[in-house]
Amino acid sequence: MAEKRFKYVILGGGVAAGYAAREFANQGVKFGELAIISKEAVAPYERPALSKAYLFPESPARLPGFHTCVGSGGERLLPEWYAEKGIALILGTEIVKADLASKTLISAAGEIFKFHILVIATGSTVIRLTDFGVQGADSKNIFYLREVDDADKLVEAIKAKKKGKAVIVGGGYIGLELSAVMKINNLDVSMVYPEPWCMPRLFTAGIAAFYEGYYANKGIQIIKGTVAVGFNADADGEVKEVKLKDGRVLEADIVVVGVGGRPLTVLFKGQVEEEKGGIKTDSFFRTSVPDVYAVGDVATFPMKMYDEMRRVEHVDHSRKSAEHAVKAIFASEVGKSVDEYDYLPYFYSRSFNLSWQFYGDNVGATVLFGDNNPSSENPKFGSYWIKDGKVVGAFLESGTPEENKAIAKVARVQPPAESLDQLAKEGLTFACNI
Ligand SMILES: Cc1cc2nc3c(=O)[nH]c(=O)nc-3n(C[C@H](O)[C@H](O)[C@H](O)COP(=O)(O)OP(=O)(O)OC[C@H]3O[C@@H](n4cnc5c(N)ncnc54)[C@H](O)[C@@H]3O)c2cc1C
Repeated sequence: MAEKRFKYVILGGGVAAGYAAREFANQGVKFGELAIISKEAVAPYERPALSKAYLFPESPARLPGFHTCVGSGGERLLPEWYAEKGIALILGTEIVKADLASKTLISAAGEIFKFHILVIATGSTVIRLTDFGVQGADSKNIFYLREVDDADKLVEAIKAKKKGKAVIVGGGYIGLELSAVMKINNLDVSMVYPEPWCMPRLFTAGIAAFYEGYYANKGIQIIKGTVAVGFNADADGEVKEVKLKDGRVLEADIVVVGVGGRPLTVLFKGQVEEEKGGIKTDSFFRTSVPDVYAVGDVATFPMKMYDEMRRVEHVDHSRKSAEHAVKAIFASEVGKSVDEYDYLPYFYSRSFNLSWQFYGDNVGATVLFGDNNPSSENPKFGSYWIKDGKVVGAFLESGTPEENKAIAKVARVQPPAESLDQLAKEGLTFACNI
């Protein structure tokens, strides 16, 4: 098969790829120089929509409505945009072999792609219960959510199982968002997770108590401290029951599993340095291999603020890292350089009428402020994280854009905290006065 050659190749067609393509265009990439190779059949889109508006029963989000870069208020890059810019969108193409030394990628169909510069943007994949040999985990109507194809299958199941029972396995943000959206679709929802409270990697017990109370008020049954150990299916192979480790059995027509992801680095094993599960990069997203960059979920990069190598799965980082890498590529071509990447961690989630944002680092002591009564008409509350006498992280539920900006500033500036009691009393005012 004839090989195709590009000066630049972005491997992966997700969020980072879309933002990288826009930056390539801004930097003046020439017609025919850039290709995006993606396993997905559609142009890059804003992945977070899949667990939110995509699953709404009324006016759901659908492509082309949420192609990148609309998620950050930018232009929506339709397939025509790529064509106009001379950017080859090579879709429905899975790369199964990468040889970084010879600068070659090979697809499942045997196509050969050669690059001069590669940007690895393969993102993450979901962890599956079948990976652990959980009995019955391959039954029909057990879903995972990563790509638009997964979301389409879930939409079909929601339609087929109207008013049925949904069991959500996992208490992270996917579990919380999916439970909410299944409830909005009028399913009878139970959520199961092993930890003492939901989103334990970020939430404090105080924060989680609000969401658990709110979800319970919506009629979602929350089962904590146990895990799904098996599934029973009917004669058609459709899931019917979820068996829990504590002996309980839950009826189920649909199961959605959200137990985490892992970065897709497998193609590059042994060819590139890795750290903390991701591909190690410098502050310009250069990997240990010349002319190979890694951005988004796969990159473990120097988090300048904390002087530490970190990997994050934040949509905000996938956008910013992609743009930063492309700027660095173009600068280096003319012997220049760009500033080091200086990322302020930012993560958000939305469910029901709720919407929270978190900035900074969730380490150290915590204070909770505001009204976190789940039965309040307009709850609004937050939390600060304090380390070495400084406020290093801030969380806010139902903030206005100005208030969210204020907590972001707190996390960036890291102002001193005189006393935790005082901070709790001042609450949001503290942030607004920084
Ligand atoms: C359902 C869902 C909801 C989310 N919600 C939020 C949220 O509310 N807030 C937030 O901050 N973050 C959220 N995230 C996380 C965020 O979407 C990711 O951090 C972001 O998408 C990472 O961008 P990326 O480009 O690195 O990877 P991705 O967007 O995952 O893109 C990777 C691309 O690479 C392709 N690919 C992988 N391997 C190959 C291969 N071998 N050959 C060809 N193509 C390949 C994939 O098919 C995909 O197109 C959410 C994620 C999901 C799945």
